[in-house]
Formats: sequence, C-alpha cells, structure tokens
Amino acid sequence: METQLQQMKALTQEKLAKRPLIISGPCSAETEEQVLETATRLAKTGKVDVLRAGIWKPRTKPGLFEGIGTKGLPWLLQAKKITGLPTTVEVATAKHVEDALQFDVDILWLGARTTVNPFSVQEVADALKGVDIPVLIKNPINPDLELWSGGIERIQKAGIKQVGMIHRGFSNYGNTEFRNAPMWHLPIEMKRRFPEMLLICDPSHICGNRHALQAISQKSIDLDFDGIMIESHIDPDNAWSDAKQQITPERLGELIDALIWRSETSDKEDFLTALATLREQINHVDDELITLLGQRMKISEKIGEYKRTNNITILQTNRWNDILEKAFKKGDKIGLSEEFISKYFDAVHLESINHQNKIMNS
Ligand code: PEP
Ligand code: MN
Repeated sequence: METQLQQMKALTQEKLAKRPLIISGPCSAETEEQVLETATRLAKTGKVDVLRAGIWKPRTKPGLFEGIGTKGLPWLLQAKKITGLPTTVEVATAKHVEDALQFDVDILWLGARTTVNPFSVQEVADALKGVDIPVLIKNPINPDLELWSGGIERIQKAGIKQVGMIHRGFSNYGNTEFRNAPMWHLPIEMKRRFPEMLLICDPSHICGNRHALQAISQKSIDLDFDGIMIESHIDPDNAWSDAKQQITPERLGELIDALIWRSETSDKEDFLTALATLREQINHVDDELITLLGQRMKISEKIGEYKRTNNITILQTNRWNDILEKAFKKGDKIGLSEEFISKYFDAVHLESINHQNKIMNS
C-alpha cells in the first residue's frame, strides 16, 4: 500500500513538471457513472495529465447544487485506479482537507471564494500542517494581488513546499465579454513576484462560455503560462453546475491539439540580434517617456503654484475633458485604444492632482 502511495506521489510530481500541464474534468462530480465516464474519455484523448472535479461547490446563491460532498471522493479514487490520472479537488475547510486526504486526492486547490477570505485560507493552512501535498491557489475573486500573495504565503508557512497559482479571472459588475475579466497584467505581476512558481490558466471560469475557450487558452500559452485547467463533462448542456462553459472530453482533446506552442526563447543568432536591437529601442523610448513625464509634472506643479496664488480649485473638469478628447482623437490615428488612453491619463491626472494638492497645502 505504502509503495502504491509513493508511486502515485512520484507520478504526480512527474505530471506537475510537464509543460504544458493539462488539468481537466467536470465542474462538479455528479454521479459515479459521470465521473468514471468523463475520466475514461479524458484519458483516451491522451492529452490530460490531472483529473479535476468539484466535490464541495461554493455557489453564489442558495438552492443551487452545492456539490455531492464526501460521497463523491471514492468515485474519484476509482477513476484514478482506472485511468492512472492523479486527481485534484477544491478544499475550503479543514474537514474538506481531512476527507480529501483520506481518499488519496493527489493535489488540492483553493477556490477564488476561499483565497478572498484569510480566515478560510488559514483554516485550510492549519489543516495542512505536516502534510506533504501540492496545493494550487486560485486568484481571489477581486483583483487584489496582496490577497493572492497572502494566500500563497499562508499555505507555504504551513509547510507546503509545492504551491502553484491558477488564474481564473476577476469578478466584475454588469454584462461584459467575460464571466470573469482576465486582467492579464495581474497574473503577469504574480509571475514576476514568484518566478519559479507554477502558473496555470483556467479559461473556463474566465469565459463562462464555450466559444471563447480556445482564444483564452491560446492567449495564456502565448503569455508563457505553464498549463491550463479546463472543465469537461460528458453531457455539458445538462451539467449540474457551469453548464454553459463545459465541453466534452473529445472537444477538449481538439482544443488542446489546436493550440500553438511557442517557445519562450530561440537561440537563432539573427532572431536574437533583432530582438536585442528592438529591446534597446524600447528601453530608449521608455527612458524618454519617464523624462517627459517628469517634465510634465514640473509644469503641472507650476500650474499648482499659480492656482494657489489666485486661490482657484485644482480641478477644472472642462479642461480635463478637452485633454482627453484630443488624446482620443490622436490615439485613434496611431492605433491606441480609448481604454489605454483613459488608463494612461487617469494615472497621469491622479499624479498631477497629488502634486498640485501638495503645493496648495505647502
Ligand atoms: C471551479 O473550479 O469549479 C470553481 C468553483 O472555480 P472558482 O473558484 O474559480 O470560481
Ligand atoms: Mn465551475
């Protein structure tokens, strides 16, 4: 028995080291047949490394399917025996951890609604003390990188050596293109903070639909993510949770096949020289931009002094609208989106206001 467990640990390590790492399985385990058939069909594609299934489901509203519970864990164990695939489930409480370990789940993950709550993360961390198991941590539902980093640190402090990150997008209000906005700069910043840590993308919960899965998966691969976690179901339309975004195991196989894998670097001499030249140019432009921004701020401070002497408010809304209007027009001509221009000017404006405010009150 001991050796079987050891073998499974070694296999899990092997899978976690594979690039790209592909995790798939149903949003929720529903019945034994559904879990076993999904697992068998996923294994048959030959594309999947780890089998996922939600056992306890955090639902936004009461009355929806809240997961099959502990009863589903033996099904996953059976699926592993049949397919040889390591398994992963979401845990949110100490009891979940205890039950998952009892049924030899190989990898645990923390869901977005858990990462957002330090009490819950700490409860899971305490339950993990002295346990040797990899833990993947989804981003919190709100775009707060400190919460995400904090969750990682809590789990690491419990002694878990192998921690990974899952990017599943961030909650937003109203109808948007995505169920959860990807805000790619945030996982990229996490990669900067934790360069050695596994980072995978969960296109299912970003998209909330089937049609955008391919593009979002490709985008994550292009951004050098280490792998993806996608939900799959034998009968997606009739899934008990997240029916709109699940795909069949066979469709998953096609999706993975259609991805284009680019390597992070190339050792071709001419490519490297061209890249180095272009990067040099970018560095130069960045340098100029910072100098120009500094000059802009100096002028803004002068305006602040002038406003103080004449006792007028910092903000003149019309003036600001004029600036934006002009910038949008110019941006449009040279291919810069209004979204980018607004973000840039928001940052510049805020910095200007802060500088002028300091001067007003000095
Ligand atoms: C899930 O993976 O099924 C899930 C509930 O995801 P998230 O925590 O990202 O909402
Ligand atoms: Mn789901």
